[in-house]
Amino acid sequence: MINFTVGPVQSSEAVRAIGAEQVPYFRTSEFSDVMFENEKLIKKFAKASDDSKVVFLTSSGSGAMETAIMNTLTPDDKALVVNGGSFGHRFVELLELHHVPYTEIKLEHGKALKAEHLAPYEGQGYTAFLVNKHETSTGVHYDMNLIGDFCKRNQLFLIVDCISTFLADPFDMKELGADIMITGSQKALACPPGISVMVLSPKAINRVNNTKCVCQYFDLKIALKNMERGQTPWTPAVGILRQINARLKEIDANGGVEGEIARIGALATYFREKIKNLPFEIVSESLSNAVTPLHPTTASAYDIFLKIKDEYGMWICPNGGDMKDTIFRVGHIGALTTEDYDKLIAAFKDLQKYGNI
Ligand SMILES: *Cc1c(COP(=O)(O)O)cnc(C)c1O
Repeated sequence: MINFTVGPVQSSEAVRAIGAEQVPYFRTSEFSDVMFENEKLIKKFAKASDDSKVVFLTSSGSGAMETAIMNTLTPDDKALVVNGGSFGHRFVELLELHHVPYTEIKLEHGKALKAEHLAPYEGQGYTAFLVNKHETSTGVHYDMNLIGDFCKRNQLFLIVDCISTFLADPFDMKELGADIMITGSQKALACPPGISVMVLSPKAINRVNNTKCVCQYFDLKIALKNMERGQTPWTPAVGILRQINARLKEIDANGGVEGEIARIGALATYFREKIKNLPFEIVSESLSNAVTPLHPTTASAYDIFLKIKDEYGMWICPNGGDMKDTIFRVGHIGALTTEDYDKLIAAFKDLQKYGNI
């Protein structure tokens, strides 16, 4: 199978080889060194300030989204949240669950965020802003400069879910003034699922220290305390943290974050050029390098997903809910090559030849 989904994605050989090894005992200085190196490289690639801190949680990305809210926001906050699809909706549900007052900026699927969407909320006493930098469900990549400037002007605490865009599109945490950046192991980090990563600015650490978290397992005060010695409070997904270490070093040795963004961007461009004559429309106004969201104009998106899986041995990424039949996505993250895309495009052409699209 070739995997063109947006996670889990294909891992490099070095990362997979670690998956075959015995998982070592971890309360050791050797494992702490792995964790410190992971922290250093994540900060480097996120362009975080020197005084920011990184924690690694044993959960998928959604666990870190909830952890961010539980540890830094309270009923005294007034949050603005961008909701352009399934992941924005998840933030909305979490704010509701944790009794954080909020206003939702609801965008039509596929639409970009513009200055006019933010203008009504200027100087209205908001305290926090939550956004999925890349709304993966619809493939919309938001203008972070617009958001960063708005948050600076209004002194908003900025939480950015970068789960599918970290390492795929440019991101400068310090320049944007972002306070929390979240990512996960199974997107462009191209490791198995199971670890989420959070980078916390000094402002975020201050909020954590002054917020009561009613959940011990995801209490960031405990996580930050343990990370001072390169450890986690509870047994983490040790094997995945070792795979993340290999992967981060692999990226560092191959042109760093800029090199990785360029590699993923080149694959995205290659694919988008080659599908120009197929009956697919790109549905997003503002694309990330991570994924191409497509609306097939002549067939059901879900049927195409099934045919590509069952008849051609490849996974493209189906959509759920009301987008099930109208949108499928093709990912560009993970260990993929232009030859892989040639095979996918040949399969699409084959489907077209037999009248299936
Ligand atoms: C993948 C993803 C998540 C997290 O999903 P999990 O299944 O919990 O890993 C959250 N936000 C975005 C934007 C994502 O792409």
